[in-house]
Amino acid sequence: MAERIVIVGAGQAGGELAAGLRKQGYKGHILLLGDEAHPPYQRPPLSKGFLLGKVALSDLYLKPLETYARFDIEFKPGTRVEAIDRSSREVSPRDGSRLAYDKLVLATGGRARPLSLPGLEGTRLENLFSIRSLSDVEAMRGGFIPGNHLVIIGGGYVGLEVAAVAVQSGLRVTLLEAAPRLLSRVTGPEVSSFIERIHRERGVEFRLSCEVRGLELDEARRQVRGVSLACHGVPERLEADLVLVGIGLIPNTELASAAGLAVQNGIVVDEYACTADPDILAIGDCANQPSAYTGGRIRLESVPNAIEHARVAAATLMGKREPSAAIPWFWSDQYGLKLQMVGLSTGYEQCVTRGSVEHKEFSAFYLKDRRVIAADVIGRPAEFMAAKRLVSSRAEVDATRLGDVAVPLNSIAA
Ligand code: FAD
Repeated sequence: MAERIVIVGAGQAGGELAAGLRKQGYKGHILLLGDEAHPPYQRPPLSKGFLLGKVALSDLYLKPLETYARFDIEFKPGTRVEAIDRSSREVSPRDGSRLAYDKLVLATGGRARPLSLPGLEGTRLENLFSIRSLSDVEAMRGGFIPGNHLVIIGGGYVGLEVAAVAVQSGLRVTLLEAAPRLLSRVTGPEVSSFIERIHRERGVEFRLSCEVRGLELDEARRQVRGVSLACHGVPERLEADLVLVGIGLIPNTELASAAGLAVQNGIVVDEYACTADPDILAIGDCANQPSAYTGGRIRLESVPNAIEHARVAAATLMGKREPSAAIPWFWSDQYGLKLQMVGLSTGYEQCVTRGSVEHKEFSAFYLKDRRVIAADVIGRPAEFMAAKRLVSSRAEVDATRLGDVAVPLNSIAA
């Protein structure tokens, strides 16, 4: 068994792995290196309760700082690893030191995709934000002043969650989305229009099928003053006090590719979280893994995936072989309404809704070949476990019974 495991990236996956190794009885040295100032923390509240001021900083931490010492985990915050030397099995942090490993785990997550507009390259704008880290939220919070106009570029989950928090904080919000509907890559039109409705009810304005053409800057080129856009080709200018860019994530794979490891939309790993180098593993948002659910390869960006992938890696490092059979799932919170998603709806043939869209309590089931391949469960958390079972069992279902709330969901697959 490895004597010294080095984990690069002290986020959700890295933190779970370090603790998981100790829980599984690993007795060797664990070194957890993170480039942020904090111990591993949960990112979901960054665009929800933490931004709203309802979740304290210490409640974000996966474990209190002192737990790492208690678990005999050497944790080094503020330590950015710049290179891997595979021949000597060492990593080099920015300070020039060299740290030896027997097994190395890359848990480097990703970074927010920047807005790419001509003329903006290299410009740092004080009121243009993205949210990936605690420091991003701390920087943006100053602009959360009632009456300020927030323009959000990107209608994915992060953009929508920030929109919800912002209107609840008294800001005016306009959200710009390039596609004709919200969340178009992950949900069906029924759920997209529902999400749009709950936001419009609270006063969020939308521009769909919208192309962002440019940002208007102040004379000093330090602040955004307005956003130029075109919806269906019709030009418009919106004044902006602050702008949030929520257009996706770029996986942090540079360390791996510089070390000669395969990278293809993430660091390529097998079902045991191993790269082609038997001493290097990769987990979480940065890793592209085989999926028992899709039968192909997948890179997921979710807490359940980070936790499951850390479990798989801990087993591998303990000399066991425990591939993941987990189904992708995710949750979001907007205006206190819980949205839970399981499976991937891409390629569905029929959407069956169950419950009341009107009363904001319904599930949307996505069917292909009469089987449920994915489900969005909204305001019906009690139904989520059964929905997960339907997706994982791949049993044939009767669409009429599925849509009938009088028929218990548990009995449908039977
Ligand atoms: P991360 O948590 O990003 O951790 C990676 C860490 O590695 C970071 O600290 C990074 O700074 C560090 N790092 C990178 N490179 C280096 C280096 N060279 N040296 C040292 N350290 C390095 N998921 C859900 O399931 N539900 C949600 O509701 C949800 N909401 C979210 C809201 C927001 C605003 C964000 C940003 C994410 C949300 N997610 C949500 C996604 C979820 O948080 C991620 O999938 C999860 O954090 C992935 O864990 P990870 O460890 O792979 O990456």
